[in-house]
Amino acid sequence: MISVATAKQIINSHSKTLPTIERPILQAPGYALAQTIVSPIQFPAFRQSSMDGYAIYYVEKEKTLLIQDALPAGTSQQLTLENGMAIRVYTGGPIPDGADCVVQKEYVNLINQSIQIQSDRIVQLGDHIREKGSDIEKNTVLIEAGTVLRPAHIGLLASAGITNVPVIQKPSVAILLTGNELVQPGQSLQFGQVFDSNAFAIQAHLKQAGIENIAVHYLKDDLNDTIANINAAVQEYDLILLTGGVSAGDYDFVPAACIKAGIEQHFHKVKQRPGKPLFFGTQQNRLVFGLPGNPGAVLSCLYQYVLPAIDQLCGTHTIQTTTAHLKAPFKKTIPLTQFLKGYYESGEVTVLPAQASYQLSALGKANCWIELEEEWTFIAAQQEVKIYLFI
Ligand code: AMP
Ligand code: MG
Repeated sequence: MISVATAKQIINSHSKTLPTIERPILQAPGYALAQTIVSPIQFPAFRQSSMDGYAIYYVEKEKTLLIQDALPAGTSQQLTLENGMAIRVYTGGPIPDGADCVVQKEYVNLINQSIQIQSDRIVQLGDHIREKGSDIEKNTVLIEAGTVLRPAHIGLLASAGITNVPVIQKPSVAILLTGNELVQPGQSLQFGQVFDSNAFAIQAHLKQAGIENIAVHYLKDDLNDTIANINAAVQEYDLILLTGGVSAGDYDFVPAACIKAGIEQHFHKVKQRPGKPLFFGTQQNRLVFGLPGNPGAVLSCLYQYVLPAIDQLCGTHTIQTTTAHLKAPFKKTIPLTQFLKGYYESGEVTVLPAQASYQLSALGKANCWIELEEEWTFIAAQQEVKIYLFI
């Protein structure tokens, strides 16, 4: 059996960055930028007014100035300001050539077709003029490669006239659920049956990670059915997540089926709870996880292995970890790395009741996993522990 750290290293070494694709900017949030984006334009692209007012020659600010013309936002007219004159300008509209100052309209008295700046007003050279390129120069970096795009980036890209961006593709995922006892939520539960929750927990996490291409298949606890489904899935999907059937029971066919389907096994079983029977293998760049069936173990393995592998594949940062002080002392009785459902608030984390891997009640309140290291036996109150925040 290998340690959690070794398991992570092995998965990491097989998780290769996926290819680059172009996406329309509105479909790009949550994706990692594959190349640095430089601005194809200057911003502002022309000398612009930031105020409704009058463009003047600063040295003429004490004169009565005849209104020469008006330049509203959106006009394509390019004017030169004449001496002894002022041009009416508007926020976002162009500044006439020559003008070196904009006086806001509230600062002037209008007399027929002329203006006079009120004597108590302070007017300075360059007032309310956005110089061409003063925000962004052409060909300067807008967003660095590797940045995971957020909605705020999308407006910035649009401001530069960019409609599509190269991003790292997200993996396609096949979820294969084993278990003759499973029925779909919504159906009536017969004796001996349980509602499938793994398909839902996994899909919800994948969707939160921005993954769209997800297939879900229910398998019989049958070696040949399992082999056939794994074979089909590795043809088409980057990531294959099986749940259940990964231990050593009479109906646990997943590890053997993976081998028969030509998956190269990298490990089976990790020194952890929950999730000890975890299987990991690859076929070329396809990653295959055999997750245990218990929903708690599935969830723990998602945070420890699957979501980090996805982050590695597509350059994202879905998983956030931090440290917290354990609220109450905890006696650890198993020589394995233990993951506990926790509630984190204001730097402190509480171990919630009901921690067995089949127990789900704590998930109504939990907001993180607490990691207790393999060799620890007693964790004192206020000891610092690593936590993995729920996404
Ligand atoms: P297994 O790993 O197949 O032995 O399953 C371990 C436990 O998890 C059993 O109690 C199963 O009924 C349960 N289980 C397996 N798959 C699912 C699933 N998709 N949803 C909910 N529980 C499951
Ligand atoms: Mg089973």
